[in-house]
Amino acid sequence: MSKELTIEQAVLSENARNAESNRGRFRRAGVHVVNLMSGAGAGKTTLLERTIDKLKDRLRIAVIAGDLETRRDADRIERHGVPVTQINTKGACHIEAHQIADAASEFDLERLELLLIENVGNLVCPAEFDLGEADKIMILSTTEGHDKPGKYPLMFKECRALILNKIDLLPYTNFDTNAAVADAKLLNAKLEFFPLSARTGEGFEVFTDWLEKRAREARRA
Ligand code: MG
Ligand code: ZN
Repeated sequence: MSKELTIEQAVLSENARNAESNRGRFRRAGVHVVNLMSGAGAGKTTLLERTIDKLKDRLRIAVIAGDLETRRDADRIERHGVPVTQINTKGACHIEAHQIADAASEFDLERLELLLIENVGNLVCPAEFDLGEADKIMILSTTEGHDKPGKYPLMFKECRALILNKIDLLPYTNFDTNAAVADAKLLNAKLEFFPLSARTGEGFEVFTDWLEKRAREARRA
């Protein structure tokens, strides 16, 4: 086995231990934790903003925003009146579990019901790093192309839900929704599917109702 592979496996197993520790901590606190992943520009921050507006009077929410270099996303989210903490990955293309452990310490977890993590915009390695979340949600947008499930199978296998964002732009693209969903379901038969537009709000409530239900189930468990 090459040295590089050995190092990668050591990093992943250390991450897995940290993720399990996070998961235990989140369960004890009764907070539902969601890891939002997508490629760059799929609309994660806009989706978070609308999700917060829809749910902040119904659930106690906080956000951990991962970003390569800036605080721009965290600043946008903060304006919606929920606590936000920023992980600056300093160029690294994913968040790791130990960073979530540190960031989560900024909040009173016992008081929270929903903790949303905005991962770094990247379809490859975020799927490999368990953060201790309850659900992974992937956002694909209609401007990206429907061939993504075949290109990034791990991401689709790991997710509980797939959001198809920017459905308002469908008439201007050649995105084939049926093909994308069929390919995604071949990889993950239990995948929930939410077509919506975070910009216009079309289809959004079906998603936030589901998210609220998941958070309430976590609370009861
Ligand atoms: Mg963003
Ligand atoms: Zn990475």
